[in-house]
Amino acid sequence: MTKNTISIGGFNKFSLIDYPGKTCAIIFTQGCDFRCPYCHNPELVLPHLFESPISCTEVLSFLEKRKGLLEAVELTGGEPTIQEDLPKIIKQIKKMGYLIKIDSNGSNPDIIKKLIDEQLVDYFAMDIKAPLENYSEACGTIVNTNKISESINIIMQYAPDYEFRTTAIKKIHTKDSFRKIGLLIKGAKRYYLQNAHYDKTVSEKFKNEKAFSKEEMHTFCEEIKKNVKHCYLRI
Ligand code: SF4
Repeated sequence: MTKNTISIGGFNKFSLIDYPGKTCAIIFTQGCDFRCPYCHNPELVLPHLFESPISCTEVLSFLEKRKGLLEAVELTGGEPTIQEDLPKIIKQIKKMGYLIKIDSNGSNPDIIKKLIDEQLVDYFAMDIKAPLENYSEACGTIVNTNKISESINIIMQYAPDYEFRTTAIKKIHTKDSFRKIGLLIKGAKRYYLQNAHYDKTVSEKFKNEKAFSKEEMHTFCEEIKKNVKHCYLRI
């Protein structure tokens, strides 16, 4: 019998800021179905930059030892939902008593629904990369935007808790982008707008770009607030 596993490219044993109000460990999965040119984690996205994966067994045994001390585990990437054994691995982590947060690009609504139906995830953070008409440009690959809409609807209807979020990119977004994004997630619980970091990127063309100013970010936030009550800035 083959053992359940996911490809882990990084592991952070302790964070106070990644799961709202909880202490957590972070698992960074290797591999992504998008190629966002501004992506800050090229080593988790571009296969030729992958390092030898961290042993899934070792990560699980660390979590076993820390149960009762750490409260939650975040799975981020990369894109966690492309890992075939993700539900099985989460089941093992959940059995230890941890809360689970998944960061996702929303490309796999069926997996998102399965994880929710099986009560395997407590908090979803889904990226909204751009208005739907700009999605493929923002993601550096052809994106089936029906799937993105589907994931948004599933999360809004069924996720126990969630946030949507966008990394603001000068080469991709304008003020009007945020009006459209607000409409796309109209009535959502909460939304975070964050500035990009350009010190390392998937595409060289986006390296050392300039970030939006605080004032511009506040203006974008006001656009979002026309349709989403709580918009927060991570500048
Ligand atoms: S930013 Fe884009 S390319 Fe990078 S991990 Fe997220 S979805 Fe994948």
